[in-house]
Order: sequence, then structure tokens, then C-alpha cells
Amino acid sequence: MFRPVNSKVSFPQLEESILSLWKEKDVFKQSIERRQGAPRFVLYEGPPTANGSPGIHHVLSRVFKDIIPRYKAMKGYYAPRIAGWDTHGLPVELEVEKELGFSSKKEIEDFGIDKFNERCRQNVFKYLREWDALTERIGFWIDLDNAYVTMRNEYIESVWWAIKQMWDRGLVYQGYRVTPHCPRCGTSLSSHEVAQGYEDNVPDPSVYIKFKLVDDNIAGVTLDKPTYVLAWTTTPWTLPGNTALAVAADAECSVVEVDGEYLILASMLMGQAGLGDFKVVAKYMGTELVGMRYEPLFNPHEFGVERQRFQRGSELALQEPDEHLSYKVIATDFVSMEDGTGIVHIAPSYGEVDFQAGQEYGLDFVHMVDLQGKITGTYPFSGKFVKDADPLVLEDLEKRGLLFRSETIYHTYPFCWRCEAPLLYYAKQTWYIRTTAVKEGLISGNNEINWYPEHIKYGRFGDWLQNNVDWAFSRERYWGTPLPVWGCENPECNSYECVGGLEELKGRADLAGLTGPLDLHRPFVDEITFTCSRCGATMRRVPEVIDCWFDSGAMPIAQSHYPFENETLLEDGRFPADYICEAVDQTRGWFYSLHAISTLLFNRICFRNVICLGHILDAEGEKMSKAKGNVVDPWTVVEKHGADALRWYLFTSAPPGNVRRFDEKIVAEVTRRFLLTLWNVYSFFVTYASIDYYDPGAEGALPEPSELDRWIISELNQLVKDVDTFLDGYSPTEAGRRIEGFVDGLSNWYVRRSRRRFWKSENDADKLAAYHTLYQCLVTMSKLMAPFTPFVAEEMYQNLVCSVFADAPESVHLADFPVADESQIDEHLSADMRLAMRLSSLGRAARSKAGIKVRQPVAVNYFGLSEGERKALERIRPLVLEELNVKDIKADSYENVEALAQNEPDKYVVVSEATTNSAIEVFIPEELKKEGMAREIVHRLQTMRRSAGFDIADHIVTCYQGDDYIKQVMQDFADYIKQETLSRELVEGVPEKTDLTETYKLSGHEILLGVKKLD
Ligand SMILES: [Zn+2]
Ligand SMILES: [Zn+2]
Repeated sequence: MFRPVNSKVSFPQLEESILSLWKEKDVFKQSIERRQGAPRFVLYEGPPTANGSPGIHHVLSRVFKDIIPRYKAMKGYYAPRIAGWDTHGLPVELEVEKELGFSSKKEIEDFGIDKFNERCRQNVFKYLREWDALTERIGFWIDLDNAYVTMRNEYIESVWWAIKQMWDRGLVYQGYRVTPHCPRCGTSLSSHEVAQGYEDNVPDPSVYIKFKLVDDNIAGVTLDKPTYVLAWTTTPWTLPGNTALAVAADAECSVVEVDGEYLILASMLMGQAGLGDFKVVAKYMGTELVGMRYEPLFNPHEFGVERQRFQRGSELALQEPDEHLSYKVIATDFVSMEDGTGIVHIAPSYGEVDFQAGQEYGLDFVHMVDLQGKITGTYPFSGKFVKDADPLVLEDLEKRGLLFRSETIYHTYPFCWRCEAPLLYYAKQTWYIRTTAVKEGLISGNNEINWYPEHIKYGRFGDWLQNNVDWAFSRERYWGTPLPVWGCENPECNSYECVGGLEELKGRADLAGLTGPLDLHRPFVDEITFTCSRCGATMRRVPEVIDCWFDSGAMPIAQSHYPFENETLLEDGRFPADYICEAVDQTRGWFYSLHAISTLLFNRICFRNVICLGHILDAEGEKMSKAKGNVVDPWTVVEKHGADALRWYLFTSAPPGNVRRFDEKIVAEVTRRFLLTLWNVYSFFVTYASIDYYDPGAEGALPEPSELDRWIISELNQLVKDVDTFLDGYSPTEAGRRIEGFVDGLSNWYVRRSRRRFWKSENDADKLAAYHTLYQCLVTMSKLMAPFTPFVAEEMYQNLVCSVFADAPESVHLADFPVADESQIDEHLSADMRLAMRLSSLGRAARSKAGIKVRQPVAVNYFGLSEGERKALERIRPLVLEELNVKDIKADSYENVEALAQNEPDKYVVVSEATTNSAIEVFIPEELKKEGMAREIVHRLQTMRRSAGFDIADHIVTCYQGDDYIKQVMQDFADYIKQETLSRELVEGVPEKTDLTETYKLSGHEILLGVKKLD
């Protein structure tokens, strides 16, 4: 029979014992293997970087990753799921640099790349045990033993293969382009990395600079005073790299006189340039200014810096020193009329559009910043980091009278997403993947993907694809998948070869340096050389490694070492994934790299459904950070409230896509409001079922269900249908909220209204029907809830099912998901019952307004109802009478009920809703007062039974003492009191030996009550 269930439960303790049960019976493995041969359901795990402790946001994504496959497995799918770990990249290198106290790449190279990378390898696995433990503890079922790891040779080999496919199709190229560069990490960032690091309200200088004109006339008009072009910038450090000024061809420019000098700027922006007293001297169109020449602010030749010039696209040619150097004004289409002066300072080495303008107009190219972000040459500010050089540059210009105005601006600026250094834009050689070549495929593929929430599809993700730029995917770093490109040493030959696998590499002519044990990382791969197939010189690997987002984006193939193994991967159901889930920042991270790689390689999508989670903030809505000390440790929450409570909270508190605040108080509230409510129903059932030896497996005809039974079974089947639909539609939140609603109805209506049926001492058919119904509800609930709260679901199932049916699946997670029996859904009955609940709550509201307790019977309750509701009321009348403890119900129109109180406000109290109202008579006749007193006494006796620790089936003797009124009540309602309190006798006078005696004052009458258990 059932194991006794204590109503006081520790969920964390319960969960620990369920974990042992799962381990002992290997339930996760069984849940997969018993579905062998069924249609597959594929989850791709987005690999976390395990170089830190898992946080609450990891729990959020991990439980959402868990719930769908659990549900699918119960629905009959074969759903193996494999864990994965992202092990490469800057985050890991930064950790190690911090450990070693390094701050530059030189220190790493002096230390030794081999030793440095070995440290990185160790570092990754420092936290892995903690990740495994938390994963297991929160019930995230995923195969941790066979996890894919991006740093393994096999994984790297698959990544190489992928790059080679792209290389062969001309999709990999080396470009001299302006890229966002992190001066601290010493490497370029891809645009999706940049997108993750913008910060608002960053202070920067906002300065107006004077560029002195060489020409002394404009369009034939003589300039009789010194004349300057006024331009605006927020990056003074780029000014030594200035080689042109740009105007908008069709914008009007003015020559204004200020302090005995002429300044040229766009007429539209004169008002905001802070000119002070000025006089407009002349006006020109932008086109008329094109070709005018001005003096450089800093002649590079005077400061030991080279000057080059664009010729034929991005090729640069060195220029001879020139004492009388001058640059020209050009017209471009990117000049803003919103801020600045309408004249733009162009430094081709430090901006993407500047670089393009340089190519287009054959401008000079002056580059005076090194890869650490320090100014080179012999300027007064040489050797300074660019941002530190800003004030010195301005000081120098001010001395020479070239600084017109200087202020501070607060704007949005990109920072390195890892180390938080300000990013600098400058021209560098970088390897690119030509993703723009498959832009149409990326966009049309997205049409096939279901996004939850839906707006991400054509919003955040769609926009990202629309604005696609080539993927700058090489990194000048150490701990990463080496770029499998070898270049010829012979500068005349200048050829490159890409290697797509180990066997292919071994086949190269005169291969040298490939020694065991095999490690496809730097510096070992750097030592591998072979002979150039074109000129016979030596081929050496280029120094770059690749973006770790490429690693993780290649996981659909690389986790299976495709195509070197698992050749059927693309056709056997393992590709694409049915489901992935990560936080919204991955639209530009993993979601994108998965989609891009799969489109580039196969022109196929690689995930069909994606839940995109909103960010998680602290309880006050602040971002969690170590510095603020508001980071929530998931272990603390789990140990205190249990994993189920945390899971339920995360599933139901907000839809997955919303930004959410994490509040531990609400996790506690979830336990109380939901889990304990369910637990109490379960404990109630088991307690009474054990007393009555109820056997759900007993043979015999099913008892006739009561109306209440039919109602809850109807609700149950509707619930099964809804939960199934919502989970199938990737909406655990909606599904969970339906379950909450059902549990509320089950506890506060069905069980409460059925209590009496379970108490009855005889085992009649009605009681059996109640057991049968409640049993069915609880067993179905355990299965419905298994994907959400796998622990408590298992606990209930073990006790309710496994202890009775020997041939049942030995875990709820091996059971089939419930199927709704639609023939049991009775919509009329549901509507009636909803009405009964609504009228009950309205009637209770009227009582509470009148200050009359529910235990006090009332003579009559009026309801103002529609015609249809009045008919329905006839069907539910006994129920509402009992529920509201009234002797009569009268139905009337809304207006008539309203009129009652208006006409006799002292006699009636009315409460109104939209179309329904309820009125009760305030006057209580003497007979009803006595009945109310009897109910109060019963209530006190029931409380005393519990305080005395009696079992619910124990029979007792009740003794009492009181005035004549009390005596009268005890006599008039003796049968009722006896029945409700299982009292064999009511004895006047309190004997010395009771188990508990209490005195109460009820409506001014003192009463002494004693209870004694009978043997
Ligand atoms: Zn950085
Ligand atoms: Zn060669």
C-alpha cells in the first residue's frame, strides 16, 4: 500500500533521495534507450565556457533546455542529448593571464606558448566538476560522460574540414580592412563580438578643430584674412592620421568672420557650433569647396611616421617626404548634418568609411598607432595610449591656435566584451569569411526557423542578417583552433594553402614537424612545414587562430567528428536540431555562428526551434555583477528551496523571452503557493486512502462519479490537452500556468468540497468514486509535471503508482505523457462550475462587507443574474447553498438586486461585479445564530483534535461547560456536532482526565471544551 506522507516536507531532502533513485536505476539512460527506433528529437547544447562557476542565468537556460526533451521523450521520441564545453578563446586566455600577472602578448611569448596553452587547458577543467554537480542537482538530463569538447583533436579536425570547404569555394580571404581592435587583447573582434560590448554615456572629448587653408581664394573670391575649415571630432588621437576633409556636395557652406579670421562650416550647423559673435561673409555649395587644399595638422614626415597612398583599391604605396604637404577637401555621401560642423575629418587608418574614402579618392594613409594602442613616432604624445594622448594632442593644437572649441560629450562607444578596454578602429590584415556571399541563404533559412518569442525572428536576428558583413574570424592569439592555412615563405610566390584534415596534411610534400603525441594547437602546429607545390619553397602556418564562436558554431558536425566519422550524420536525423535554447545575446553569438556555418557548408538550417531567453537581473532590476555583490549563487537557492521550486519559478514567473528579475523570496512563495498546495492534496489523499484501504488496482465495476468528480475529471482532461499543446508549441510558461490553475481548483474546490465524502465512516460507492477521482488526478498530475518538476513528480509517482502496480514503468520519466480523453471534457459542466465559483466568491464578498463570518448561516442570498445564468443556477443551487452557508438563494435581475440596498440600506448589503451582483440580509434570526454557534464550536473542536495530535480517524468524547445558551446549543445540535468531530458522546461538565482542555469566548458566551481520545 501507499507509504505514509507527511504534510511537512523538505523538498531539498526529497530531491536528494530521488537523485539516488535515478542513479540506481539509471533512469536517464533508460528514458533514451527504451525509445530506440522511434523518431528522433534532437537538442543541440550550446556549450558553456567552463572557466567560471555556473550562475543563476546558466540554471535558467539549462532548465529550459531540459524541459522540452523530457517532454518529447515522454511523448515517445528518441531523444539522446549530449553535453558540450566551449574551451577555447579569449575568456580562457584572460583568466590565465590574470593568474600569471601578464598584461601583454610579449609576456606570453617570453613565457612560452606551449606552457601558456597548457595552463589554458588546465584552467578550463578547474570548474568542470562544479558544472557537472549543478547540472545533475537541478535535474538537467544531458549526457555529461560523452560531452563534446572543442579543444579535442577530433573536434579541431572537423573545424578544419569546415574551413577548407569554404576555402575551396573562395569564401575565405585576407583583407586589409579597418576592424575593431582590442588594444589590450591585441586582436580584432568580429562584428558580433563588438555588438555585445556597447556602453552608453561614455565621456569623450568633443572638439572643433581649425584646418588652415593653403588657397587664398574660393571660386575666384579672394580671402583677405587667415581662413580655416572647421571640423569636429570625438577622437583627437586620430587627428595626426587626418589626410582629407569631407563635405556634402549639396550642402550650403558659409564663410563666417570670427575674431578677425574666416571659418568655413555648413550653414545649417552654424547655430550649434558656438561661434559667438560672427558675420557671414560668403556662401558656397559644398561642390565649390571640393579640391581646395589645407595644411596637415601634423606633417607625418616631421614626426618619423611613414606616409602611404592608396592605389588600385587597398594597395598602398610609400610616399616621399614633403615639406609643403597639403591635403584636399573631398565630397562624400556620409557627411552628417545632425552634429559637428557638416565637415568631416577623414583618417583612413582609423575608420571604416574613412578607409573606403581613402580607396575611392586615392587619399594618403598615415598610421601612427601600434597594436597595443600606443602612439608611435616622435610626436609630443608618442608612447601614450591613444585615449591618454587625447588631452596632449589638444594641448598641442591649442598652443598653435588650431583648437577652436573643446567640450565633453557623452555617447555610446564599443568596448571589448571580455576585457572592457575601449575598442579602436583601425586598418589591419585579417582573415575573413565571405558570409555576405550567402546573405540570401541566411535570410531565407531564417524563414524556416521558429523563434520563441516570435519577434526575434525578423527583429533582432532578422536585422542582424539583413545587415550582414563578412565575418572577421582570425584572432592574433594563442589558445584556439589554429587557422589551417599555410603560406609560402617565398615573397615572390606568395601562395597560400588550406588544409582540411590530418590525412590531407600528412599527404603534403616533405612534411616535417608533425611529431607525437598529436596536439593540433599552437605552438606544435606552427612547427609543421611542407613544400610549396608552386615554387618548392617552405610553407609555414600563418600565426592566427580562429574565433571561438566558429568552434561552437561548428558543433553540429564537429561533436561527431564529421565527416571523418558518422558520415550519415546529415541524413540520419541528427541534423538539424529540433531545438536549441540560449539567452538573447546569442542572436549575434552562437545562434548566428550556427546558422552561418550551416548555411555556408550545406545551405541548410541547423535548428528548427529556438527559445531565446531574456536576461536575468537581480530582485531590484539591477544587472548582476561580482563588483556589486548581487550575484545569486544557484547552490544556495537549491539547497534552501529545492530544484523543483527554482525550476517552477523560472518556468512560470515570466515568459522565456522577457527580461526577468530574480527574487529568492518569490521562489519561497512558489513553494508555499504551488508545491505545498499540491503536496497537501497528495498527503490528504494518501492519509485517507490508507485508513480506508483504498486500492486503485482493485477489480470490480467503477463507481458512479458524482457531479463534482465529473467536473474535476473534465478539467483534468482539458488540462492535459492544454499542457500538451503549449509544450508542443515551446511555451512551458503557459503550460505551467494552466497547471497552477488546475491545482488551485483541485485543492480549493474539489478537495475542499469533497472532504466530507472522505470522512464518512462507511465505505460506500460515493466515497470510492471520490478516491478514484482524486487518484486519477494525482497520477496524471505526476506525469504532466514530470518535465517541469521532475523530482516531486517522481516522488508522487513512486508512491501512487509503483507501490501498487508492479508492472508499471519504474519511473515517471519512463511513462508516456498523458493523453486527453476528450469525451470526458464537459464544457457545460465547466461553465456551471465556474458560475458556482463566481457566485460563491461574490456571496462571500457580500458577507465580508456586512461583517458576517462564513460559519454563520444566513437566511437568504440574492443574486442579480442574466436569464441564462438563472437557468444554470438551478443546476448548481445545492452546491452554492452549502458553499455559502445560506438557507435560500433568490435569483433576480441585476437592477432589482441593486434596488434592494437602495431602498432599504439598513437591511441589505450588496456587492457588484460587471454583470452580476449579490445581496444578503444583515439581520440574523435567533435560530440561525444558534446554528452559527454550533459551527464555531465544531471548528474549535477540530482545531483541538489536531493540537492534541489525534489521528483523523480517532473517535473521542467531548466534554463542555457553559451557560444556559451554550447548553441549549449543545443539545439542539448534538447530532451535528458529534458527526463532525467524531465524538461518541457530548458530556456536560469537564472531567479531570482529558487529553486537552481549552476555554473560548464565543459571541460573549464563555465555553470550556475538553477532548479525550477513545481507545
Ligand atoms: Zn580585450
Ligand atoms: Zn611558393
